[in-house]
Amino acid sequence: MAETTLSSAGPVDPAIITDLVAASRILARHNVLDAWGHVSIRHPRDPQRYLLSRARAPALVTEGDIMEFDLHSNPVDQRGRRMFLERFIHGQAYRARPDVNAVVHTHSPTMIPFSVTGEPLRAISHIASFLVNEVPVWEIRDVGITQGLLVANNEQGRSLAKTLGDGPVALMRGHGNLVVAADIKRVVHRALYTEVNAQQLAVALSFRRPISFIAPDESQDPKRLDDAWEVWRSEVAKDL
Ligand SMILES: [Zn+2]
Repeated sequence: MAETTLSSAGPVDPAIITDLVAASRILARHNVLDAWGHVSIRHPRDPQRYLLSRARAPALVTEGDIMEFDLHSNPVDQRGRRMFLERFIHGQAYRARPDVNAVVHTHSPTMIPFSVTGEPLRAISHIASFLVNEVPVWEIRDVGITQGLLVANNEQGRSLAKTLGDGPVALMRGHGNLVVAADIKRVVHRALYTEVNAQQLAVALSFRRPISFIAPDESQDPKRLDDAWEVWRSEVAKDL
């Protein structure tokens, strides 16, 4: 396919790019991202653009790997770089959700059992309050498969964003999840604690006792994540 050239929305503060790289490495370090999966942010200067690494394992992403895309996931300046096949997840999430400025797609391990059994994934711990409502499960066959269970085009990405609705997380049957938030710190918190809460819920279910889920009037997102971000960043600091 021929490369098209779009004009860039402009330079981005290097500190913002460093946070994006850190997010990728933090989630890899916590085994929420494996050798695949990706983190993006909406372009700070243009809501019709987003920033995502070239195709590369999340634990190895550097500032120089970050590329700019429009919301149909066309690259602004590809320069021959290999792109993530599943980037359409990001573009369509930004298109559907003006409130979202950061997106993660993971193969977070404990998503799989909840995505294939119908067992509801909901918050049982306060720190995962953002999951107070049952997490919806996206079925790719509702829109049609083209490359196994991978999201390989805008139509599939749009369908996934529709399942996400106005929530923070959608499970992808037999594949992983989509996590969204208003900023990079919050999306890292959500991706991490979706996995932690799923592991804890699996343990609770094994006890075969009634479960008290977090109630709507108990739900509270962390007001500030700066302390958490500081420690997560410190874990990957030597690589930045
Ligand atoms: Zn995937």
